[in-house]
Amino acid sequence: MANNKIKTSQESVPGTLYVVATPIGNLEDSSARVVQTLSAVDLIACEDTRHSRKLCRYWNISTPLFSYYREREHERSEILVNLLLSGKNVALVSDAGTPAICDPGAILVNKARVAGIKIVAIAGPSALTASLSIAGLTDSRFFFGGFLPSRSAERKKFIKSISSLSYPLVFYETPHRIYDALLDMADVLGERHIQLLRELSKIHEEYLEGSIKDLAEQVKEGIKGELVLIVHPA
Ligand code: SAM
Repeated sequence: MANNKIKTSQESVPGTLYVVATPIGNLEDSSARVVQTLSAVDLIACEDTRHSRKLCRYWNISTPLFSYYREREHERSEILVNLLLSGKNVALVSDAGTPAICDPGAILVNKARVAGIKIVAIAGPSALTASLSIAGLTDSRFFFGGFLPSRSAERKKFIKSISSLSYPLVFYETPHRIYDALLDMADVLGERHIQLLRELSKIHEEYLEGSIKDLAEQVKEGIKGELVLIVHPA
């Protein structure tokens, strides 16, 4: 008599999902635990396999890669959860920093949790914590806004909604949007102090600060690389 619900001693134990933070620029920022985990799992789910292959090559990691990106998160997470349930151990990485922080990951984590799979965070770099660690803020509170909306009207509305917070506002920004974003910030927030942290842990790492308008002038002619903005309270 067939009964699928009966457990047998042969039945495999679910694997573990490791959510692994990877360097935000300098590959040497991979911890020993990151290298060990990525080497030991059966599969690495990555946002962009070409990107993660560089990290794997650097550390001689030969684990197979599986693409897991924003547009296909629902479908790909189903496949991964089934693999985990069949006993495979899976690591999840994003292109840089901590998965699920402005990156894919949350959908897989939620589905894995519902399926009763063990989830382990392999903690490490994030542009958020790296920037805060060198900003010199004495207040331990901050607001993290991720990426601001791309359209000016929406962006201003969002900035206005958080303008009365009495602690620093942290945003991720891109080179092609930063100037317009700063003009909108100046418009809504007035003359506040702002810090810009660029290319953290990379060759062209840079720190700029000033009033929002000063900073807009400094980036007016263009700026390259990856950027974090920290806006101080009024
Ligand atoms: N998950 C990542 C993390 O934990 O930081 C963030 C991914 S998000 C798609 C990418 C954004 O993070 C960039 O546009 C930039 O704002 C910020 N970022 C990533 N690496 C950075 C770096 N080395 N220096 C400054 N900002 C960085």
